[in-house]
Formats: sequence, structure tokens, C-alpha cells
Amino acid sequence: MNAEIIAVGTELLLGQILNTNAQFLSVELSNLGIDVYFQTVVGDNQKRLEETLQTALKRADIVILTGGLGPTKDDLTKETIAQVLNLQLKLHQESLDKIKEFFAKMHRVMASNNEKQAFLPEGSIILPNNNGTAPGCIIEKDNNIVIMLPGPPKEMQPMFKEYVYPYLLKKSPYTIYSKVLRIFGIGESSLEEKLIDIFENQSNPTIAPYAKQGEVTLRITAKCESEEVAKGLIAPVEEQIRNRLGIMVYGIEEESLEEVTCKLLMEKNLTLATAESCTGGLLAEKITSTPGISKCFHTGVVTYSNESKVNLLGVSQDTLQQYGAVSCQTALEMAKGIRERSKADIGISITGIAGPGGGTPQKPVGLVYVGMATQQKCWYNELRLVGNRERIRNITVMNALDMLRKYLLTGETK
Ligand code: ATP
Repeated sequence: MNAEIIAVGTELLLGQILNTNAQFLSVELSNLGIDVYFQTVVGDNQKRLEETLQTALKRADIVILTGGLGPTKDDLTKETIAQVLNLQLKLHQESLDKIKEFFAKMHRVMASNNEKQAFLPEGSIILPNNNGTAPGCIIEKDNNIVIMLPGPPKEMQPMFKEYVYPYLLKKSPYTIYSKVLRIFGIGESSLEEKLIDIFENQSNPTIAPYAKQGEVTLRITAKCESEEVAKGLIAPVEEQIRNRLGIMVYGIEEESLEEVTCKLLMEKNLTLATAESCTGGLLAEKITSTPGISKCFHTGVVTYSNESKVNLLGVSQDTLQQYGAVSCQTALEMAKGIRERSKADIGISITGIAGPGGGTPQKPVGLVYVGMATQQKCWYNELRLVGNRERIRNITVMNALDMLRKYLLTGETK
């Protein structure tokens, strides 16, 4: 089976927004074993959309359209599809009720033109929109499948995953099953180097690396007749990868570093306190995003100035004068100080230069120290990061979480 993706929207043609919908759909379709031969972008223009759709219907089995389902006059995707496929638009009462409910929940009055969104092509499979108003639909007509999805990614992606993916999976002669491994502490190219022989000798399952900020994911995908068989193909490859990467594999699927680390902390029933300088509370924010963490995390302070490092954490004036606020000595005293004052089992500190200003040849932007203290010992990591302020802060927090994770798993202090 092959597919064509049509993204509708003049904003896309003007370069005001990036066509991330096409990227998302292409990845998903390739995971399903469906070849994407064309991606097209067309503005909010009925005639050109009509021509684009007609061309796509001739050359693709599946045509997926995104965008242009809004309530206004320039949203004309649905009307054009109905016209080209010669279908009537009919009121779908359930969708109308859902749209009304959506507005009621947001305490907003529904405009009368929102009703337009509940008119859908007759005989189509309706796809509820659980994150917005415009429902999508699947139309099976002659030898084509036409799938219409809303434009906003936060509406389109869940709709695809929840309804379209399982629908297409049933149509596909194969089962596609994949497992994602999440890795921290190695770049994409070093990872490829480490695993090159595994990558090269693999055709089913395939292994696809993907670099995200600070971490890399590996998607292992098997294509075969059943999920059981697919799992059987994936397991030995996963084991091989884990043997090579060891503790760097921190999680699977959608797990985040903070989630995994906080879970370990809760399992071990240990308490944690944080003292942050350049990350301004970002570490505490990540930690507190994990439900149930209140039993382990009681205190997080932001000590941005030297005075607050002295007054709140007990960092010595001498240390600050002799080594500076961004130094391993200060980081260690911050970690010790917050641990002792909060009576936590573990203290973590962060001090560094997030930029863009403030760097010197000896202490450049991106130099960060993460300190850790337990009752028995104190240790630190020196990070040399690159990128803008936001990236440096985010990667610092990931490193701090990873340092804690490794300590919790192995008791090691590096
Ligand atoms: P709405 O119901 O909100 O009107 P819609 O289905 O009519 O949605 P559009 O009006 O075409 O969708 O787009 C709404 C927003 O969705 C755009 O402003 C943009 O932020 C996002 N969007 C639309 N198409 C894409 C795309 N192809 N890639 C990424 N984002 C997109």
C-alpha cells in the first residue's frame, strides 16, 4: 500500500509554520510499512485543493489530508473532499454534542459556525477529536482510502494514534511492532559507532536512531505476521544493544529521565533535596512533575547569588572567594549544605554559566558543576556544554537526574 500526504494551509506555503504534520505522518506510515510516495502542500484555495486531491487519488491508495477543518469560510478541506468524491455532508449529531460539550467545559460560548464542523461526509468513519473541536474521518471510496485530520498537531497526532493507526494496521498485511529504547550519556554518532555492526546486519527488525535534546532514542521495529513473532525478533536485538550500552539505556517507550529517576528514588524510599543556581529551579520542576514524589522530595531552593549560597546553604565565603561560585568546591558545599539543612538522604546542587554572557577563557559559558552529597560521601561532575542558555539549562538538569539515577542503581559516584 502507498500513501500521499496533503497538508492544507496558506500559512504553510508562506513559511509561517513548518509542515511537522507531514513529518509525523511519514514516520508513522513508514512504521506501518506503508510507503509514502508524495507529500504535497496546498493553500486554502478550493480549486487548487480539488486538483491536488484528484491527482493524489489517481496515484495513491491512501490520501491523508491535514488542516482546513476549522469553522471559518477559508477552511474548505471537508467541502472539497465531499465534492470530489461526490458525497453529501450530513449532520453527525454525536459530533455536534461533543463540540458543544467541549465549549461548555472551557466555559466558552459556541459560535454558530462551529456547527459546520459536525457536518461530515456520508458513510464515513468518524474520528472523534478529544483535544479540540473538528472531528476527522475516514472515507473508503472505490479503490481509495481518504483520511481527513485536523491541522493542529496536538489534535492531529492523538487522533492518528488512537484511531487511524489501528485502522491502518488492520488494512496492512503485516503486523508492525516496535520498541523504543531511551538512552542518555552518548551522542548519536558515538552510538552508531558502538552499534554499527548490529545496525548493518539488521533488516528485520530495523533499528532507527533519533537524537533529541540531550538524549538518543532507538526504535527497533519488526514487521511480520503476528505481534508474538515480532516480539521474538526484537528481544535478542534489544539484548545485544543493552549489553553494549549498559546503564546508558535508561528507559523504554515514553518514559522520561525524571520519571525513571524519581521511580527509583521512591522504590528505595530515599529523600532528596536540591540547591540550584543557573538552572533556577528547573531540576525541582522536573522532579515535582512526577506524581507521588512528595514522599521523597521535600526541599528545593534556588540560590542564585553568592549571599544566598552562604546564608541558605552555608557555603563558606572563603570557598567563594578562592574558587568562585562556579567551581567544584562550591558545588560540593552546596550539595552538603542543602542535604544537612533539609535532613534529606541525598543533596544535589547545580552551579554553572548558562550564558550568553558571564563566560571567561578559564570558565566559559556551558561550564557547569553538579554536586551530590549523601551522609557518607560527596562527589561532583564537571560538564562542558554547548548551545544556548535554554539548552545548557535543560541538559544540565538531565545530567543531574542521570547522575542521581546511576547512583541509585549502582551506588557509583561517577
Ligand atoms: P482549527 O479547527 O483549529 O481551525 P484546522 O483543522 O482548520 O484547525 P488549520 O486552521 O489549517 O487547521 O491550522 C490550524 C493550526 O494548526 C495552524 O495555525 C498551525 O499552528 C497548525 N497546523 C496546521 N497544519 C499544520 C501542519 N501541516 N504542520 C504543523 N502544524 C500545522
